[in-house]
Amino acid sequence: MLNHFKPTWMVNAIYNITPAELKKRGIKLVLTDLDNTLIAWNNPNGTPALKKWMDQLEAADIQLVVVSNNSAKRVGKAVNGFQLPFVSRALKPLPVGINRALRQWHRSKDETIMIGDQLLTDVWAANTSHVRSVLVKPIIRTDAWVTWLNRFIERFVMKALLKRDSELTFREDLYD
Ligand SMILES: [Mg+2]
Repeated sequence: MLNHFKPTWMVNAIYNITPAELKKRGIKLVLTDLDNTLIAWNNPNGTPALKKWMDQLEAADIQLVVVSNNSAKRVGKAVNGFQLPFVSRALKPLPVGINRALRQWHRSKDETIMIGDQLLTDVWAANTSHVRSVLVKPIIRTDAWVTWLNRFIERFVMKALLKRDSELTFREDLYD
């Protein structure tokens, strides 16, 4: 059961994931969660580090797509300033949204990763879709979009995972 929630990698922040490390692993499609992974509710325009990272991805010809459980209206509004394509109502942890992105951008599971800040939605969805995943630290701790129950279970699962797999820890970039 615990394996459903196990990320392939754990990285401190999304903009730490370098195009070079992605290319090394044949990744051409990067799917990302929106809230608390890409942006925080108190900084909807993102940070300069994020913008720089997005430019680097584009230069490396790696496609970035937001995969969110929120409505098209809300996601569209949030990514408007970024010129990013998105899949809304992704139904994470179901594989629906990720599979839709794979079809739409004509990429295989091996060429794709899913990045997110939650084990119970983002990582689980990646595992049910059989794509590799990156768990990042949530940008801020007070997350308007996560219920206390979700957070409680998340902490419990995280603790169990870290206890079982001692190699799991947040690092600077993708690792072997
Ligand atoms: Mg999130």
